[in-house]
Amino acid sequence: MRTAQFWLNQLNLRRSFRRRLGAAIATTILIFSVLLACIVGDISQRQIQADRGELMAQMAYQLAGALDRDMFIYYQEIQTLASLEEMRSTQRPTAQKQMLLDRMQEAFSDFAWIGLTDSRGIVMASTHGLLTGANVSKRPWFIEGRTRPNVQDVHSAKLLAALVPNPSSDPLRLVDVTAPVVDNTGTLVGVLGGHLYWQWATTLRDNLLQPLKDYKQVEIQILSSTGDVLLGPGRSPNDVSAPVNLSGLKSFQAAQQGETEAIIEPWLDNAPTLTGYAQTQGYRSYPGLGWVVLVHQPTQEAFVPARSLKHNICLWGIALGLLSGALSWYIAGQMVKPVMVIAHTAEGLRTGTTRAPMPIFSGQDEIAQLSRSVGQLFANLDQQTTLLQQFNADLEAQIAARTASLNQTNHRLQQEIQVRSQTEQALQNANQELQRLTLVDGLTGIANRRHFDQYLEQEWRRSVRDRLPLSLILLDVDYFKLYNDHYGHQSGDACLCQIAQAIAIPPRRATDLPVRYGGEEFAVILPNTDRSGAIYLAETLRQAVKALHLPHAKSAVGPWVTVSLGVATCLPSATLNPINLIRTADGLLYQAKQQGRDRIVANP
Ligand code: GH3
Ligand code: MG
Ligand code: MG
Repeated sequence: MRTAQFWLNQLNLRRSFRRRLGAAIATTILIFSVLLACIVGDISQRQIQADRGELMAQMAYQLAGALDRDMFIYYQEIQTLASLEEMRSTQRPTAQKQMLLDRMQEAFSDFAWIGLTDSRGIVMASTHGLLTGANVSKRPWFIEGRTRPNVQDVHSAKLLAALVPNPSSDPLRLVDVTAPVVDNTGTLVGVLGGHLYWQWATTLRDNLLQPLKDYKQVEIQILSSTGDVLLGPGRSPNDVSAPVNLSGLKSFQAAQQGETEAIIEPWLDNAPTLTGYAQTQGYRSYPGLGWVVLVHQPTQEAFVPARSLKHNICLWGIALGLLSGALSWYIAGQMVKPVMVIAHTAEGLRTGTTRAPMPIFSGQDEIAQLSRSVGQLFANLDQQTTLLQQFNADLEAQIAARTASLNQTNHRLQQEIQVRSQTEQALQNANQELQRLTLVDGLTGIANRRHFDQYLEQEWRRSVRDRLPLSLILLDVDYFKLYNDHYGHQSGDACLCQIAQAIAIPPRRATDLPVRYGGEEFAVILPNTDRSGAIYLAETLRQAVKALHLPHAKSAVGPWVTVSLGVATCLPSATLNPINLIRTADGLLYQAKQQGRDRIVANP
């Protein structure tokens, strides 16, 4: 079983304006049609129910009227008969009186019996001579009939039950109509009484029901003024002495107020019943007995046509609603079609699946305007796209040109950077060379005095910081003035170079720095070197120079060039100065010269 949700999904209302519009109109029309049909059906049902109630009330009214008119006739006839001379005169023979009574019964067959009593209640004459001589002085009709014409309500036959034929299958019941018989002096001479078959009312009722034989389960009741059922359902044929009393019915009570209407009330079997009611009012001189006529029909039956009509109207409403809905669905589709065409074309143009032009619908309505506007919009868009493409192409060309120019510039810049970097490298090399040159002695190639000053200052601070000893060797060539004088200045220079090489070569620490201190004086800075280490190196240097075997013909020490050395060692501190170390070494060198040269003097 596919659910409503499934069909709604199938319809896919969100994706289709046409379906949405169609569904909205169709649903609205369907709802209104069904609602209208229900309202019309309901109104019709009420109207028919009211009509049916009216009919029931009218029937009750007609029967009540017929009862009254008939009773009036019998009432009137009895009085007319009682006023006849033959009846009033005691002189007239009884046979004549009986003949009149028999004629009367022949004329009005509803009379079961008509009798004339004397003033004491002894039946003098009667139809067919029945009950002649009987004493009826205790009977209510006689008692009442002595004073005035009157009627006695329905009662069971007593004396007559066995004497007169019973036209119905029910026990015999009678209605009495009586009138006093008076002579010319106004003296009561007797009472004329007629007993009517109650069957007469049944006939009236059946005549009334005759045209309504198609109306199912219609029942008519006649109630006495006290509410006892006189005729119709609710009265047991076998127990006429105990009739059902319906004085509690609302319809009965309303009828007694003189109303002629119809209401719905529960009846004998408690089923809701439509009841029309009316009360007999009497007719002309006939005062009436206050009978109430009720005409019933179960609402189950009474309202069948109303329900059927409502049902039909509702069905027609639904059918017409569905038809109108389908029609409006179709019409909505037709109306929205141009919009769908515009939407599809626009989508095709947007996605590029079509190049077809936007269709233009003629007319002045919104759809025509929309088609024109969208068409114009796409035309503008096309133009703008073309312009944009051109602009894009121009821009791309410009970018390509600019990129090429930038590439060239970049290349040039890179070249420049390369040249600059090479220049920088050369400059750096030159600077390094310059730096080296500022620290190197030009003649001997070992460190110069500037280097000596920087290095000594630096190592002095390090020794202070690390609490390490620092030694300094000062070395001076012996009698070098004489060497120059003897061998010439050029040879002197060569000699100094060889001595420098000899000082530089011996094994020593990387931190030791041999320096040309100035002229023919040399120095060696020995960081982290104690006195003995310094003396040992000084001795090595002295021997290394001597081992060069450079001839010195003018030396007073020996045949070869020799050197004198001053060795100073100290533990540098913040309060001391490197100048002190140089001075000490210089003083010790002086002492070595003094003590004969070619020797070492160290501080103690
Ligand atoms: P002493 O043994 O006392 O040191 O005697 P000395 O002659 O070596 O000492 P003095 O200071 O009197 O002489 C140093 C000489 O060294 C003077 C100078 O001609 C020479 N001299 C200094 N610098 C150079 C140089 O660069 N090249 C040459 N060839 N000679 C130099
Ligand atoms: Mg000197
Ligand atoms: Mg010297």
